[in-house]
Amino acid sequence: MINIALFGAPGAGKGTQSTMIAEKYDLTYVSTGEALRKEIAEKTELGLRIKDIMDAGQLVSDDIVVEMIDKIIAGNTRNGVLFDGFPRNVEQAETLDKLLAKYGTSLLCMISLDVPREELVRRMLERAKTSGRSDDNEETIKNRLREYENKTLPVADYYKAKGLYIPVNGIGSIDDISRDIMKEIDAKIAKS
Ligand code: AMP
Repeated sequence: MINIALFGAPGAGKGTQSTMIAEKYDLTYVSTGEALRKEIAEKTELGLRIKDIMDAGQLVSDDIVVEMIDKIIAGNTRNGVLFDGFPRNVEQAETLDKLLAKYGTSLLCMISLDVPREELVRRMLERAKTSGRSDDNEETIKNRLREYENKTLPVADYYKAKGLYIPVNGIGSIDDISRDIMKEIDAKIAKS
């Protein structure tokens, strides 16, 4: 199975790259952020519980996202799973390892899209004009980047230690970046 985590700060382009990667390798795609936004849009009980947390740019509790991810892995009928926005802290990374092991599989690699902070803010403010996302505003963007730096960045070290961390330059044309990502994934598959 080809299980890949796409890593990067908010605004790094994970969502944009995901579709192409999922298609090429025939992967089940899961974006925890998108799944959570859907809960809010549908005003489910969970959605009502997490709205204020997401609007503040904070991470929702691990239990909520882990349950979502467990269901996705269990229901996967494709070549593997592409995780976008998960794991977001070291505890989630440890849980992902255990979950994948439970289903007799493991993570192939974590692709990290590297984009400088000023560019991230510029992209998110640009996206705010059309995204309709309530967390794409200056104040919340700052909080999201803070959460990323404090809680999510350590995930990179977690995967570096396991030899699964692959950085890719996230500046350039969408096509060039996806070509770089696919080259790295192909090399990792060839070695596995
Ligand atoms: P994203 O679409 O990935 O930028 O995520 C938007 C928001 O969803 C984040 O700011 C968090 O509030 C929440 N979220 C998404 N993924 C996770 C996760 N793995 N753990 C906790 N919160 C998450």
